[in-house]
Amino acid sequence: MGIVVAIDGPSGSGKSTVSKRVAAALGLAYLDTGAMYRAAAWWCERTGIDLDDAAAVTHAVQAMPLVMGLDPEAPGVTCDGVNLAEAIRDPHISTVVSKVATNLDVRAELARLQREIIRAEATGLAGSFSRGAGIIAEGRDITTVVAPDADVRLLLTASEQARLARRAADLDAAGKAVDAAALRDQVVRRDHDDATVSQFLTVPEGVTAVDTSDLTLEETIARVTELVEQ
Ligand code: C5P
Repeated sequence: MGIVVAIDGPSGSGKSTVSKRVAAALGLAYLDTGAMYRAAAWWCERTGIDLDDAAAVTHAVQAMPLVMGLDPEAPGVTCDGVNLAEAIRDPHISTVVSKVATNLDVRAELARLQREIIRAEATGLAGSFSRGAGIIAEGRDITTVVAPDADVRLLLTASEQARLARRAADLDAAGKAVDAAALRDQVVRRDHDDATVSQFLTVPEGVTAVDTSDLTLEETIARVTELVEQ
């Protein structure tokens, strides 16, 4: 059996960058579960579904033609043949995604898809990316709901100040800078809403917390690699 690594954390904790880098170094697949929720929000809007209509959103997500790319060096998200790499990072999607993510039927459907992907990578099912080496899956509920029996379960944390600064730098680099109020909405309000359905603001039992506030990216990668290889 390949290794299964579950990494959770709030927005701006650095979990995506760290997970990709560690997965690439160790020859593991990489699953960005946040991208699945973002794609779900995009798909609903694309197909004219009102995000406040929970039943309609659930139906739309159950029928969503989503394909997740698991290569940590080029993770792809495609829906109905459309490459969503850019579209799902739009600040508008960050603002509305929690509406979809707090729908418990949507969570059940996406968790089912996530478990299928994780099992395929852990067992080396035909067509799997890692050929059975394993996978790093990151999100908000991977250590607690999606893969509570993962071999390694980590929670990346960081102070609010550090998380706001990182998100601002990311948006800046992508040419999508927003004002201070919009930034707080994308980080603090979103985490608050997301935390109503997932445990990632406090450390779940059996999960190892890594506080990245005062660590550089390279230091965080080194620490996580050490924990994965233990
Ligand atoms: O990690 P990222 O910021 O891309 O996640 C986008 C959104 O997807 C989160 O704000 C949250 O609403 C949702 N999400 C979730 N559970 C996960 C991963 C992401 O609810 N496992």
